[in-house]
Amino acid sequence: MSTTATADAGAVRPRIRWGLPAYIVLVAAAIAFAVIAPKTGYILNISLQATTYAIAVLGLTVVLGLCGQINLAQAAFFGLGAYAVGLGQTDYGVNFWVCLLVGTGIAAMFGAILGASTLRLGGHYLAMVTISFQQIVTLVLINWIPVTKGPDGVRAIPRPVLFTDGSAYLALCIGVLGLLGYLVWRLRDTRLGRAMRAVRDNELAAGVAGIDVYRTKVTAFALSAMLGGIGGGLFAGGFAYVSPDQFSFAESVVFLTMVLLGGVASPIGAAIGTGLLIVLPEWLRFLKAIPGLYLAIYGAAVILIVLFMPDGIWGFVRSRLDRFKRPSAVVAVPPLQLAGGGTGAETVLEARDLSKHFGGLKAVDEVDIAVRRGGVHALIGPNGSGKTTTLNVLSGLYKATSGGIILNGRDITTLPPHARTAAGMGRTFQNIRLFRSMTALENVTVGAERPGGPVSGDAAAVVERARAALAFVGLEHRADEVVAGFSYGHQRAIEIARALASDPVLLLLDEPGAGLNSSEKVELRDLLKRISARGLTIMIIDHDMTLVTEVAHHITVLNFGRRIADGTPADVLAHPDVIAAYLGTAPDAAA
Ligand code: ADP
Ligand code: MG
Repeated sequence: MSTTATADAGAVRPRIRWGLPAYIVLVAAAIAFAVIAPKTGYILNISLQATTYAIAVLGLTVVLGLCGQINLAQAAFFGLGAYAVGLGQTDYGVNFWVCLLVGTGIAAMFGAILGASTLRLGGHYLAMVTISFQQIVTLVLINWIPVTKGPDGVRAIPRPVLFTDGSAYLALCIGVLGLLGYLVWRLRDTRLGRAMRAVRDNELAAGVAGIDVYRTKVTAFALSAMLGGIGGGLFAGGFAYVSPDQFSFAESVVFLTMVLLGGVASPIGAAIGTGLLIVLPEWLRFLKAIPGLYLAIYGAAVILIVLFMPDGIWGFVRSRLDRFKRPSAVVAVPPLQLAGGGTGAETVLEARDLSKHFGGLKAVDEVDIAVRRGGVHALIGPNGSGKTTTLNVLSGLYKATSGGIILNGRDITTLPPHARTAAGMGRTFQNIRLFRSMTALENVTVGAERPGGPVSGDAAAVVERARAALAFVGLEHRADEVVAGFSYGHQRAIEIARALASDPVLLLLDEPGAGLNSSEKVELRDLLKRISARGLTIMIIDHDMTLVTEVAHHITVLNFGRRIADGTPADVLAHPDVIAAYLGTAPDAAA
């Protein structure tokens, strides 16, 4: 036993211990090199550009890499920071650091506003909005001459005390880049970082798992803009001169190319992409004898990298390195605590006169459902009878056309999905919705850390609870594998574990048996019984009548959006309307 413990500890150790010291040494070496190494103005300029650009590109690692939101206005945020430092010092005599802070703040504010537009917009529309913002900023910089000095730009921008020397200033920029890079690197595995990745992977599931999707996106945009602002502010100090053309849409595209080329998923990718795109054109300058040749080679290189390394250069290297990854240690897992069976009213969920219309189609039509505490409540009905729509209205993905929903004594009719999750609703989807690029443990952790949950706020307890939930569905030993590699049945189990981890009072399952083979179905039935035995109330949609009759205490039947029967399995399944609905004959004929 003791040997196992030592082996386990040994397996866990290297991952935690090497990263940070190695990183600090690297950054310190870069700073030392910046200070000591002899350099021409040319090398200094390239280095200053690379470091300040890299800070802005880190912003794209956050908003695009972590949160999956397109931002084609990073040069505008870069420009806001640069102009704040430029104008603030030269026109208003404000201290460099104060200017940098103000510029970062202004950028963050506009970033948040841009992020707020994601409430209604996504994909191409969001891209259009960010481009429009970029164009507005450029137009203002060019045309608001009394303030911005227009196309002439701002000259003679000073550097802060102690850093007036080029080498010292470069060292400062490297230090800031090192620190921010570290923070972005750490962000990934914080609650916010997981929330961002969840939103990127599956927005709908993120909301249902308890994440405030809108706030997460706004935060991602604000952080991204802040990093743009800081990079721009340092850029202005570095080059002492800024003009509108340095912060144009074309530059935003350059920033985007940098992050995509290096690898959008990691700050290391941001650094690689920035360095490469700044240095590559310089390396290729020897070709300038033939005009245009260097641009053609440069373009071809970019296309080749994007084609053959879709995850960027670092993503490519990373996937090779991952082959040598050690399996994580097996740690003792406590049993999963489920409070769902706790005290409270007899009825967990009450929906009254619930309707959902899609134009003229009454997908759900004045349905009443009362789910009693404890036990399994089945919702059945032919295909297209409105079962999934009912679940979507209950969990807040659709707004009810009319009717009210009470969960655990609380009116949740108008709450957004994540707030319903906080109120005690857990659910899975008919088509499995996992965060596909995240590990099994990360998926379940998102559930465990929902606000107001049993362990929210305590990072160690959150992970422990997530492990317990995974163990409950029998997958703890594969906690650190990415979910895309799991079998369908196991993905279903992870989805259930994610819902269980949030400690719901009611678990809604939409056709959990769909697509499972017979042995997986046996496992599912066993799992449902174990959940039910813990006292957690389940509402399940399923076509498998064997499963339904075996586990359900109560059945509600829908047909064409209307409730046609409700009661104990024996009564409901003998009901003539139900027989008719399933056999497709008219009620009177069945009778
Ligand atoms: P079930 O889950 O019982 O098979 P659904 O709830 O998925 O049925 O669908 C009920 C009806 O509502 C179907 O006719 C379906 O086409 C329609 N429907 C479902 N979602 C939408 C939507 N988002 N827009 C329009 N019609 C929809
Ligand atoms: Mg359905």
